[in-house]
Amino acid sequence: MNGPGQLHPHPGPAAQALAADAVDWAAVRADFPLLAREVHGKPLVYFDSANTGQKPAAVIDAVDAFYRHHNANVSRAVHQLGSEATEAYEGARRRIARFTNVRPDDLVLCSGTTFAINLVAYSWALPRLGPGDVILLTRMEHHANIVPWQLVAQRTGARIEVVELLPDGSLDLDMLRDKMTGAVKLLAVTHVSNVLGTVNPVAGICREARRRGITTVVDGSQALPHRPVDIAAIGCDFYAFTGHKMCGPTGTGALWARREHLAAMPPFLGGGEMITEVRLDGTVFADPPRRFEAGTPNIAGFIGLGAAVDYLDALGMANVEAREQELLAHFNEELRKVDGLRILGAAPGKAAVVSFVVDGVHAHDLATLLDLQGVAIRSGQHCAHPLLQWLGVTATCRASLAFYNTHDEIEAFVAALGKVRRLLA
Ligand code: PMP
Repeated sequence: MNGPGQLHPHPGPAAQALAADAVDWAAVRADFPLLAREVHGKPLVYFDSANTGQKPAAVIDAVDAFYRHHNANVSRAVHQLGSEATEAYEGARRRIARFTNVRPDDLVLCSGTTFAINLVAYSWALPRLGPGDVILLTRMEHHANIVPWQLVAQRTGARIEVVELLPDGSLDLDMLRDKMTGAVKLLAVTHVSNVLGTVNPVAGICREARRRGITTVVDGSQALPHRPVDIAAIGCDFYAFTGHKMCGPTGTGALWARREHLAAMPPFLGGGEMITEVRLDGTVFADPPRRFEAGTPNIAGFIGLGAAVDYLDALGMANVEAREQELLAHFNEELRKVDGLRILGAAPGKAAVVSFVVDGVHAHDLATLLDLQGVAIRSGQHCAHPLLQWLGVTATCRASLAFYNTHDEIEAFVAALGKVRRLLA
């Protein structure tokens, strides 16, 4: 890494404050029909967006319109519906590519981050790694960015090494630098932690890895929904993301990869759609990205994701980030007033994901009782067992905010928390 300045590129709060005011956030919230419902007779406070995001009417309508008016399979039928479906599906690929600043042909559409990382593991890493090679991970990875690499290590004899964290939940960049030895073939790192909210300086990390000949895989699941992400500018080799956390339908996501990797990778799954010719004695595979998209895709889902990125684009991701930072500042301020509540993760510039524990109360009990107050948060280990082991806790509560949340909800959350604690006292 070339200097500390490049490793901490978080925009300052002052720059963000201007953008937060640029949008009518009450009107934006009204775009999300589900947020108007009640739960257990109380107005819903949905603080679980890191788990899955809610969907604006534009996305729901796009999926509905596809099934009502255009439903057909893609890339097969010559009839009118078939060409409408194909055009809508490929149009979505182009919109998702534009949103992330990459070429549509370098974007493999798939079911989400888990699939995307497994595709890299099986198709890129398995044929390339061997005994003596190192796969470098970080302590804060989601299981989706750990388990596939363990499977690769088991099959190839490669070894996994881990970069640890500093007490505030930032990545230990000195340790990372030291661990980037000649044996490291692959570095897998999350852009934003789903537990701590830590935003890793992935552009600086990938630049340094590239200089040392290390291939990089970035898990963008928690980044794309919350901040502007220019994948091309990050300079990684692979970038994986999931659609359902960024206002899109479940079962959608993508892997972006450098063209040269996609061109050199064998198919992961075989079947229809990924070939140009099949004979009984051999098959000619389609060019990327279709080579990696066997079978009928989630057509309606991607049309919904296309609508989601249009929606986010219209909001402006800088505005989204600024809004969420403003909500986070208020949330932190309110939580600081709660006795016995400890927030886990205080990295500078963190995203609006707040994991916490409360003295004497189990996380699941707290989440269950909050649910009865209409408040939805997640409790447990958040698919991050190694991180929870490091934190020294068996479970945490996690409140994760999105731009459609409100200051009133933050106050309702704190009031509900007080009520629950009185019940438990
Ligand atoms: N990585 C991170 C950081 C995540 O938060 C998640 C979802 N919780 C995933 C990977 C997995 O995403 P999916 O289940 O959509 O494949």
